[in-house]
Amino acid sequence: MSPAPEEICNAAEKGNFFKELQGLYAAMDRAYDQAADRYGFSCTGCADSCCLTRFYHHTAIEYAYLLSGFRELPPERRRTFLSRAQACIRDLERAMREKKPFRHMCPVNDDGWCALYAHRPMICRLHGIPHELSPPGRPKIQGAGCTEFERQFGDLPYAAFDRTPFYAEMAGMERRFRAQAGISEKFRMTVAMMLISLETKGL
Ligand code: SF4
Repeated sequence: MSPAPEEICNAAEKGNFFKELQGLYAAMDRAYDQAADRYGFSCTGCADSCCLTRFYHHTAIEYAYLLSGFRELPPERRRTFLSRAQACIRDLERAMREKKPFRHMCPVNDDGWCALYAHRPMICRLHGIPHELSPPGRPKIQGAGCTEFERQFGDLPYAAFDRTPFYAEMAGMERRFRAQAGISEKFRMTVAMMLISLETKGL
């Protein structure tokens, strides 16, 4: 059994993992911006917001970092986001039961703005532009941009954006963090699920 959210956050802070994660996030943001600039692409919000997508996040270190941002918010906003997270989970469960597609705004998206922008997970940072990934021992994967990107820039030649070094560094950090914090359980959580985990386990 894994430690409670508060213990996970404290272990990350104590082990200096948040500083390391911030450095990694800054590096991926820079690389993303450079590639996006080559197309002239800027993500300034669109009707088909990627925050409506059901992204699953898999790292305990990112869970801890998102929750550390969440616990800095005023209590009122936390209550609002928690109640949105409950609604989101209810909708997700219904969509799964009825085998229908799921589209629901992320609970911490406030009128198009991410309330946890500095703490948002890796996939929120990397989504949107074409990319490549070379998983160990497997052929290279090429990924497309988001719908809006493809509509505006889909005809332009690919500007290289390799996610591999970021995934590799994240995986290494995650391994060290899990070993230090004594976390054994697997993570597969949306942002809504992360917030809801606080209700049962407390923060
Ligand atoms: S964490 Fe922020 S950027 Fe990521 S889906 Fe939620 S609102 Fe959007």
